Amino acid sequence: MLKPEEGVKILLEHLGEDVTRPGVVETPKRFVKALWELTRGLREPPPEVVFFPMEYDAEPGPVVIENISAVSLCEHHLLPIFLSVSVAYVPGDGVPGLSKVIRLVKWAAARPIMQERFTQWLADLLMEKLKARAVAVRVCGVHMCSFIRGVRDEHHNMVTVAKRGDIDVKLRCRRPPLCK
Ligand SMILES: [Zn+2]
Repeated sequence: MLKPEEGVKILLEHLGEDVTRPGVVETPKRFVKALWELTRGLREPPPEVVFFPMEYDAEPGPVVIENISAVSLCEHHLLPIFLSVSVAYVPGDGVPGLSKVIRLVKWAAARPIMQERFTQWLADLLMEKLKARAVAVRVCGVHMCSFIRGVRDEHHNMVTVAKRGDIDVKLRCRRPPLCK
């Protein structure tokens, strides 16, 4: 069986690149490593969510976390999708730690996705891992496959939403920043 690096070398040759020049001789190795990192969600277990007691006699209302930035790959072209994800949840027993929710979203995104399916799956994942009573998700994605190639439109973004259970929030998410 071909090693992944050899496959990338074949691809570069196919594109017309001279794979022996110093600048690209190590590129297949780096490319495989980069994709390994961008798809870590396929292999790593989801981050453990820690829960804190409410310590107050009231039902917590919806918790909203806006504009979590994450990166995915589009499963059709393997080009990056820049995501901005807003989530809302009604906690069940125990309030999930903020940073763990963010880590969970970034982990979920780290794989090839189709945004429409990803959004639905993320809502189910958050319901389960946050032990939530209800969840809402809004995902705003800028897909490099339509940004830099194909229709080449750099202004649009795709928004997808999902809801589980009884939750009444209006989620917003800004277009993911493409430069910092
Ligand atoms: Zn695509």
